[in-house]
Amino acid sequence: MDPTLAADLARLPELLEATRRAAADALATLDERAVVPPAAPAPDPEPLPERGDGTEQALAAFRARWEPRLSASAGPRYLGFVTGGATPAALAGDWLTAAHDQNSNSALDGGGQALERETVTWLRELFGPSEAHTGTFVSGATMSNTTGLAIAREWLGERLGVSPADDGAAALGPVRVLSGAPHSSIAKGLSVLGLGRNSLVPVPTLPGREAVDPAALDRALADTPGPAVVVANAGTVNTVDFDDLRAIAALRERHDFWLHTDAAFGAFAALSPDHAHLTDGLDASDSVCVDLHKWLNVPYDSAVQFTRRRDLQARVFQNAAAYLGPLGEHPDLVHLTPENSHRLRALAAWFTLRAYGRRGHREIVERDIACARALGERLSEDPAFRLLAPVRLNVVCFTLAETPTQARLTALREAVSSEVFLTPTVYAGTPALRAAFSNWRTTQADVRRAAEALRTAAKDLT
Ligand SMILES: *Cc1c(COP(=O)(O)O)cnc(C)c1O
Repeated sequence: MDPTLAADLARLPELLEATRRAAADALATLDERAVVPPAAPAPDPEPLPERGDGTEQALAAFRARWEPRLSASAGPRYLGFVTGGATPAALAGDWLTAAHDQNSNSALDGGGQALERETVTWLRELFGPSEAHTGTFVSGATMSNTTGLAIAREWLGERLGVSPADDGAAALGPVRVLSGAPHSSIAKGLSVLGLGRNSLVPVPTLPGREAVDPAALDRALADTPGPAVVVANAGTVNTVDFDDLRAIAALRERHDFWLHTDAAFGAFAALSPDHAHLTDGLDASDSVCVDLHKWLNVPYDSAVQFTRRRDLQARVFQNAAAYLGPLGEHPDLVHLTPENSHRLRALAAWFTLRAYGRRGHREIVERDIACARALGERLSEDPAFRLLAPVRLNVVCFTLAETPTQARLTALREAVSSEVFLTPTVYAGTPALRAAFSNWRTTQADVRRAAEALRTAAKDLT
């Protein structure tokens, strides 16, 4: 054994203790340090070490050169994109995932696969897909959407008497994927799957909304020759609008389509009795995407993919090999997702659900919703700002009341970035900013700090 490696092995508990201290320090300062570190150039590149000097020195080098350049995205005022942190239990589960280093893709060894299945069952109960839905863990909502669309592709093949999994997407001929306000990852998934970004057919939304107009969808489906795919959106990133899932599902009486629902973070509305109606009809979807590294607050990277047609899923993703054995009625996970080998990704989700339960996660969701609403109220009372949409759930979409140019919004965003991180967008043609609340630590005190920083920075804008 390399002598440095042997020395590390001999001191393993001590090294893990030092690492634990470093992690605790990083988390202890989350609240005070700049949300986005002041722009500093990347450090000079270092050559690949010929001889290493062990974990302790690597840890010191990381803390000196890279840690100060990382954003406080695990903290309470990182409101860009839709970003969760990691609950204490989720973090503990993630550490143990690496410690056990399981490849939980088959039943040949150990209980990792069974643990993943138990976690999926809990998630299904939390979000409300039906018992007919099975689920698998994937790395994020983009992969969950892509997997759902891959199953949809195979379903189109079943309708047309061909198998895209065997014969390629070209066997289908032109495909139409109808959606009101799809997330950008849908187009990416269609590109990956060989269906093409141009297979996406935009369907008009309701006036002043991002939710699809069911009557327009009905007409678009009537104009579509043959079976189609509909992507329903349960929580859009700009204004967190929800398609009427029941109305869309009812269109199946007249039209032949696969219904995929992108509920990446919108599915969490199901945890709040006041907002659960937004996800009504989720159980009618043929496939559902839910992200977990957002509002469940598990570390990156984690999402779940539900479907009613595991048989088609296995047709797409089967990884037949003599040493893996036959697929059987309950295919191993290696036959169900784009990955073969993968970490025991379920463990962090299992830990946080086991530790805090439905109640604990409901409290996080409801607190974040209350924070979004409070920021929305503060900004609408401030003459410098204008809301571009009502705060429906956990995102505030707003702009400057006067001259909302990209340049002024960028200046505003940068001026507040040590206090609060926001991401830019364009909504209904207007440059805007989004504040998305999905971190388990965020409180009303953070809302006050964010609102105050924005108010002060807006005054100083030229
Ligand atoms: C975040 C998001 C995605 C993509 O998720 P990743 O985890 O970044 O892959 C897809 N759809 C919606 C609605 C999202 O909010």
